[in-house]
Amino acid sequence: PYSGLSADEILQKRKTFLGPSLFYYYQKPINIVEGKMQYLFDENGKRYLDAFAGIVTVSCGHCHPDVVNAVVEQTKLLQHTTTIYLHHAIVEFAEALASKMPGNLKVVYFVNSGTEANELAMLMARLYSGNLGMIALRNAYHGGSAGTIGLTALNTWKYQIPQGENSPCYKSRPIPWSICSNADAYVRELKDHIDYGTPGKVAGFIAETFQSTERKLLQSNHRCVGGAVELAPGYLKSVYDVIHQAGGVCIADEVQSGFGRTGSHYWGFETQGVIPDIVTMAKGIGNGLPLGAVVTTPEIAQVMSQKIQFNTFGGTLCVLPVGSLWLKVLDKERRQSHCADVGSHLIERLRTLQQRHDLIGDVRGRGLMLGIELVTDKKEKTPAKLETAVLFEKLKGIYHLTSSHYLQSWRAGRKRGLHGNVFRIKPPMCFTKDDADFLVDALDYAISGI
Ligand code: PMP
Repeated sequence: PYSGLSADEILQKRKTFLGPSLFYYYQKPINIVEGKMQYLFDENGKRYLDAFAGIVTVSCGHCHPDVVNAVVEQTKLLQHTTTIYLHHAIVEFAEALASKMPGNLKVVYFVNSGTEANELAMLMARLYSGNLGMIALRNAYHGGSAGTIGLTALNTWKYQIPQGENSPCYKSRPIPWSICSNADAYVRELKDHIDYGTPGKVAGFIAETFQSTERKLLQSNHRCVGGAVELAPGYLKSVYDVIHQAGGVCIADEVQSGFGRTGSHYWGFETQGVIPDIVTMAKGIGNGLPLGAVVTTPEIAQVMSQKIQFNTFGGTLCVLPVGSLWLKVLDKERRQSHCADVGSHLIERLRTLQQRHDLIGDVRGRGLMLGIELVTDKKEKTPAKLETAVLFEKLKGIYHLTSSHYLQSWRAGRKRGLHGNVFRIKPPMCFTKDDADFLVDALDYAISGI
């Protein structure tokens, strides 16, 4: 039994002792005290079906027994030393990760987060190219550090610090409402950017393949990222050519889309048929433990040998065995094809639901990386902001109605989209077809009553 603080008490203390910029999704946030695979439990033992995996982080499931065992065994033996000593786990994981990479992407750097991974990637791009300007996409999010907030175009993430003069980050290309079919216009726009908005040379380009969009949070006017907008077919291939011609390197941010989540491919960038020069990853790679990585070619890595590059906790021993094991679990449990199966079942059911509810304007994504966009007018694509907010709360509340049911409730993907009108569904990869059915039925029920 849970004997900790109540949700109200936690909220009160959070307001007093933690920073004011923290956000939450529900008007009354839930106090989660336990997790098992695709389920979360609150302090009263209520079970929620988790469709968002701790922001796309708990990849193989909450407290997956193999992962827990690996952490416990390693922690009992040796917790941490840093890379000043040798240890087999770090080279084994680096080798395993490199074996999952195409082309000559063979050199691995371990860090602690996606932000750090993208900072390092930017540093490499600038050193290797000898240029400063980075190009990122509009609506992108690549981290919260001083450097990486320069890569986002969302003003609500940006503080008043230098982001332009010494290390320019140019933004390109608005992402369309849905999957756009013609990449040419966007590629031309990027080329124009380079020709007219930069010295003609750039350090690099960074993008997710399934780009995030933004939403307004309920309790503030802050916006944050999220969504599942797939880049136009052929877009990255043409852009990579343009960037290489301008002397830059191409970075794929796989923080959310990697490790088979898209179902069709192991890495998101493979859906575009490209091989990046640098790949960054975090979140799912540690199944909930702080781990990130940058993988690049030996040639690019070489520029980093000019100085020391060191990270105390990057790839610490308590975390690394999880990474190694997770790659094995992924293969053993055939998670990529599972994501493809469950994802296509979910998309099919959602598209059927779309026929019945005008509120559902778009169902997009691949595998277990989906977005459901709600609109009040399908033709005009008017964002259904209020309806999304109401639905979100209703879905959370469903467990009250079916408290003894097999699946008591679900935790919807956080509402996202440029206007706060997109549900993002990115559950732990052990999510089943039954879970998908429950999710769609719950959505159907909630929309019907709106
Ligand atoms: N890149 C992407 C695509 C992300 O979604 C995030 C986090 N939401 C980051 C980078 C930053 O990762 P972290 O929060 O681990 O620093």
